[in-house]
Amino acid sequence: MTTIEKDKRPERATVSEVKPGGELPERKSFIRDIIDEDLKTNKYGGRVQTRFPPEPNGYLHIGHAKSICLNFGLARDYKGFCNLRFDDTNPTKEEMEYVESIQRDVKWLGFDWDGRLFYASDYFEQLYEYAAQLIKKGKAYVCDLTADEVRKHRGTLTEPGKDSPYRNRSVEENLDLFERMRKGEFPDGTRTLRAKINMASPNLNMRDPVMYRVLHASHHRTGETWCVYPTYDWAHGQSDSIEQITHSVCTLEFADHRPLYDWFLDALGIYHPQQIEFARLNLTYTVMSKRKLLQLVEEGFVNGWNDPRMPTISGLRRRGYTPKSLRLFADRIGVARSESTVDVAMLEDCLRDDLNKRARRVMAVLRPIRLVIENYPEEVVEELDAVNNPEDASMGTRKLPFSKVLYIERDDFREDPPKKYFRLSPGAEVRLRYAYIIKCTGFKKDEKTGEITELQCTYDPETRSGLPQSSRKVKGTIHWVSAQHAVDAEARLYDRLFNIEGPGGEDWRDFINSKALEVLKGCKVEQNLQRAKPEEVFQFERVGYFCVDEDSRKGNLVFNRSVTLRDTWAKIEKKDN
Ligand code: ATP
Ligand code: MG
Repeated sequence: MTTIEKDKRPERATVSEVKPGGELPERKSFIRDIIDEDLKTNKYGGRVQTRFPPEPNGYLHIGHAKSICLNFGLARDYKGFCNLRFDDTNPTKEEMEYVESIQRDVKWLGFDWDGRLFYASDYFEQLYEYAAQLIKKGKAYVCDLTADEVRKHRGTLTEPGKDSPYRNRSVEENLDLFERMRKGEFPDGTRTLRAKINMASPNLNMRDPVMYRVLHASHHRTGETWCVYPTYDWAHGQSDSIEQITHSVCTLEFADHRPLYDWFLDALGIYHPQQIEFARLNLTYTVMSKRKLLQLVEEGFVNGWNDPRMPTISGLRRRGYTPKSLRLFADRIGVARSESTVDVAMLEDCLRDDLNKRARRVMAVLRPIRLVIENYPEEVVEELDAVNNPEDASMGTRKLPFSKVLYIERDDFREDPPKKYFRLSPGAEVRLRYAYIIKCTGFKKDEKTGEITELQCTYDPETRSGLPQSSRKVKGTIHWVSAQHAVDAEARLYDRLFNIEGPGGEDWRDFINSKALEVLKGCKVEQNLQRAKPEEVFQFERVGYFCVDEDSRKGNLVFNRSVTLRDTWAKIEKKDN
């Protein structure tokens, strides 16, 4: 693995820099330098036309988000256009479900193709026509070798390949065979159309690459119309050309394909976009290949493509990631020409930065223990004022009911406290957030299990938060909910899906973190959360950021932990007196 970038950009974009329309500030990059230069020399008549070209064979992931932000971002900043094009040349692996999810994800991220939605399959007829032109020019031939034989003839990095025995067929024979391939006269895998380039080229991509294969398969858009399908290498550059793309931005592994794409365009003599390669996004503790993501889904390691443990856009969305946080991330990582791996902590930080400004603070107790305030009147319910977001006064306040019986976190009490434990323990005092200082006077314990079942406390009526006389200070502040008002909820705590930074190799599944999901039932949350809707995000004070899961529609409130808090303690103490 290469270097891990904690945060390589000298200037970090901040959330407040994300303009109201969702626009990020314009950043310099080598790609923008190239475009600036092309605009200066008027290479494309002042046009900037990019595209995002997913293959609809899986759901989009955070790496695609980088590419989407890049391509749509360039179009936006240069007042150009960005097409959404499905590279759908592989009918056996592609599905409408993916086509739909991809459109949903691009829109959700905040981008719009403004009607410029295309499919490589729209160009099948044109591509066939182009191929026939190459045959006529003596630059393509029908080859009867099987896929295995083609591989054997190809040679290696150190040895040249061998010419196919079918390489020198006449133009007439090639045209006739190609047409009969299209008509369905030959079984799958028996014939291919290949470019006639150079079997001795040091670049393996140039050794007579396959342009068409016979494949009797139904396509999700063209149905049974075709039984020959173009390869990605043949379709991609020509599709860019047909769409008059100016800057065809792709990941580094296509750098070695560029001479081939150039060769095709030059041989046809058609409009020539410029390909620019950048380094793909790699993230620690994450796999990004669609093949592996599909395996995680199909082999049941996760519950579907949108499982909140997945690095897919739909998984991140369900986890509570916001479009803004992903755009902020794309901006902070920038684009470069050399491979690197980004620390997943950077992604989490982007979410915190966004949510800190926007998420409502609420009280929620994940692992509750009953607490009885013995000197508090039985029937009384006080309405206390709580701040919705200390970062944003315009978000206002809300009322919190306070009563004799509360729930607090089990972890906020210790029978034998360690040094510097500023929460509850026998005889110790603590402040209840937005309420009173209480003192622990006793506890009940299940003698068999040793489990503490209830805490007894007294409160000091002089110390209510916000009152002038409440200036008495204690070291710790804890959160709570009123037992009779609290709402039951389930919390799903997520962790990284892999145990190691770089889960590569064939045994990558051995590194799946089996504890990446912990489900807590019987959580108690404040009553204001009763009507929370799926995808709403909250900060559970001291606990973390949580969003409402779509499963809540079934009746029970379910929360996903989006990300933990950076700092759980210091801040609250300062503000709560
Ligand atoms: P496959 O292995 O199926 O080809 P892919 O990840 O390349 O998967 P595509 O659907 O071909 O998927 O990708 C669409 C676009 O997203 C391409 O332009 C590709 O360069 C870009 N892209 C894919 N993965 C990443 C990544 N990790 N970082 C940045 N861009 C990516
Ligand atoms: Mg690809």
